[in-house]
Amino acid sequence: MGGVNITVSLEHPGGNLIAQVSEISAPSDGSFVFGLVVPPLEDGTYVLRATPSDDSIEGGSVSVRIETPVSWWGSPLFGVPAYLWIIMMFSGLAIGLGGWLALHRVSATRTSQCGKCGTTMPRDVQRCPSCGADVPPPDPGAF
Ligand SMILES: [Zn+2]
Repeated sequence: MGGVNITVSLEHPGGNLIAQVSEISAPSDGSFVFGLVVPPLEDGTYVLRATPSDDSIEGGSVSVRIETPVSWWGSPLFGVPAYLWIIMMFSGLAIGLGGWLALHRVSATRTSQCGKCGTTMPRDVQRCPSCGADVPPPDPGAF
């Protein structure tokens, strides 16, 4: 044996040819190495078919799973797909925002009175909504 040329083709499951490399020289043990330039493909299962140039070795085909390796979307990050991290980040943000709003509402319910006109107003305003007088910032220690 030896000197058998093999043609390797990548095909869609339906049989359409995607890429092909021919004249791969197969040593006598039947193993061979090849390089195949593959155009951008949708992720999926494709068929890799090896066809020898004569009948001295047997051809065959295998199903290969092709996934786009450069896509960050879905690429594992500490074993968790990126889209899951995004969901986790959004939920973390929502929790943080909800906590901030709750704190803000609590502080807004604390009121003080304008020293000039006596209007009751939220503690955290800098100017009286009624008469426009400057309101001194609340004592940080006082509630
Ligand atoms: Zn006032």
